[in-house]
Amino acid sequence: MPRTSPFKIGKHAVPLGRTKDIFLQVSQRYTGDPISLPIRVMRAHKPGPVVLVTAAVHGDEINGTGVIHELMFGQPLALTQGVLVLVPVINIFGFENQNRYMPDRRDLNRCFPGSEKGSLSSRVAHIIINQLIKHCDYGIDLHTAANSRTNFPNVRGDLSEPQVRRLAKAFGCELIVNSKGPVGSLRREATKVGCPTIILEAGEPCKIEPRVLEVGTRGVTNVLIDLGMLPGEPVRPAYQARVSKSLWIRSEVGGILRFHVTPGEPVAAGQPVATNASVFGKEQNVLVSPVDGIILGMTTLPTVKPGEPVCHVAIPNKSLRSVQKALNQAPDSSLGTRLREDLATNISVTEHEGDWAEPTQENNGF
Ligand SMILES: [Zn+2]
Repeated sequence: MPRTSPFKIGKHAVPLGRTKDIFLQVSQRYTGDPISLPIRVMRAHKPGPVVLVTAAVHGDEINGTGVIHELMFGQPLALTQGVLVLVPVINIFGFENQNRYMPDRRDLNRCFPGSEKGSLSSRVAHIIINQLIKHCDYGIDLHTAANSRTNFPNVRGDLSEPQVRRLAKAFGCELIVNSKGPVGSLRREATKVGCPTIILEAGEPCKIEPRVLEVGTRGVTNVLIDLGMLPGEPVRPAYQARVSKSLWIRSEVGGILRFHVTPGEPVAAGQPVATNASVFGKEQNVLVSPVDGIILGMTTLPTVKPGEPVCHVAIPNKSLRSVQKALNQAPDSSLGTRLREDLATNISVTEHEGDWAEPTQENNGF
């Protein structure tokens, strides 16, 4: 039933048609001063769905903070119904220290739903679940890759849940990864308590990247349009594929990499993704993709030891041929095309000089 009574978070009530910035206390400093989450609640005149957008549950993953900032900063969103709840920082402790973790060295994104009498992180998680997430109908949690890696923007969620599937499709990323998430993660536990939630994985930690801002704001807007909370038409990607399997290509020997692919690029089985050269510039080996796939993420650090991850390859439920065809038809100005170029600007990408044959329709299904 749509809510007409004041929408409440903690002791803060927000009536219909009002926007309020509030602080929800989740912990304390050594001095006893409160530590609080900043929350903007935007409520339309008409009751409707409650959508929660969160960022920086890993304190150094601030691309999502930038996305929420952008949603707060620009033109005020003219919601036609419902409530939009924006939380730019969930892990305040990590955010302050440019660190992924909590001060008790726990990963807050493994501590949900938490407990009232548990550890520092567990108590914070408990308050967030009970005072925030349980009041919301849908969730979008914004993440980036871990240190020294970048992710081509993709959404993840438990696609066996119809409402999660709806959000994941509506957001509008090219790649949708079917994954419940680890035990204790915000998305998994929020979905369990009745707030179907997806995550966005996009870009690098410790940065606010312009194209990721564009993906994030467009994605949240697309979801709000899909739920009837904003007017307009959603922007669709060139293609959309579901990913149920992925794998990491790892380095075999220590050396310095020359990359031959960019995030988001389709790769055929056997295609070179990086050349590993010795410190004296001698080619040691060429890493190739073992499968037809799409580069979901990659290291941004070209120095590797044996076994270190180089490229994360998604195996889509669509043929590379149809993906490549859709990408060829997309204009150069499309967000997907610009993302493929921009996310690679701080990575040295060169053509592989060797006897690798360009994929043909006969040998690999392009
Ligand atoms: Zn994260």
